[in-house]
Amino acid sequence: MIALYATLAAGLGAIIGSFLNVVAHRIPRDEPLGLFRKTRSYCPSCKAGIRWFDNIPLVSYVLLLGKCRACGWRIPVRYPLVESCCAALFLLAVLRVDALGWTPAWLAFAVTAAFAAICLAATAIDFEHKILPDELTLRAGPVVAAAGALFIPAIHGTQLFGHDLVPTFKPGLASLIVGVAGAAAGAGIIGAIRWVGTLIARREAMGLGDVKFMAMCGLLLGPWGTVLAIMVAMVGGSVLGLLIWAVTRNREIPFGPFLAMGALAVLFYGPAIDHLIFVTYPAWVRGG
Ligand SMILES: [Zn+2]
Repeated sequence: MIALYATLAAGLGAIIGSFLNVVAHRIPRDEPLGLFRKTRSYCPSCKAGIRWFDNIPLVSYVLLLGKCRACGWRIPVRYPLVESCCAALFLLAVLRVDALGWTPAWLAFAVTAAFAAICLAATAIDFEHKILPDELTLRAGPVVAAAGALFIPAIHGTQLFGHDLVPTFKPGLASLIVGVAGAAAGAGIIGAIRWVGTLIARREAMGLGDVKFMAMCGLLLGPWGTVLAIMVAMVGGSVLGLLIWAVTRNREIPFGPFLAMGALAVLFYGPAIDHLIFVTYPAWVRGG
């Protein structure tokens, strides 16, 4: 049964990924998303309408050899990349919700998949435009995160310093308050880093978008998950940032994608990451 759900989720992920490409193109340009009114897909280069058979996620990109049928415009790699990443994330969401036993499973899948989609859209937009738009961090994100915080308390994390986190809250107001504490932690920590970084670098070290983004993540992850996610983002950002700089000499690497990566890692593998940082690593340092 899980194999069937996994396959369906991957297919749905590819379709949502195709929509995220529209989001990533239109939000930074203040174009309407056409969520409620049918707006036709069009080629960003020649504005020719895209017919349905040229609009199938991943498949059409391969069949068209990555070019617009009308004008030959080279479709950016972002399109198939976001579609395949979204398919993979939706697949992961099904498998992790099943493995972690989060209930109700359909809601846990809806929340984790939607959160992953928002993180992916934020990553695509931040890489290209160096912004994290309010549409994601203040509107879509908080709605999804609040649903998770209200109804799936275990989503706030179950491990702290390698110990079981007690008490485990029931769904409802108490669980939502833990989420709000997480949002405050996210905004507070990133806000503090931004303030210190700006003082040292004497220019804006991190955008206000990063603060809003991490507040949104904190609402879902809870305070402890938020701290873990920021730790993962800093380690990942340092290592990958150095690699990107070494290859491209690009110093202007946005931090949003690393925050998104950290948040997703903790959402799906929080207990394992907690164990790695606070049990396995200290034991290894002590030579145990
Ligand atoms: Zn075209």
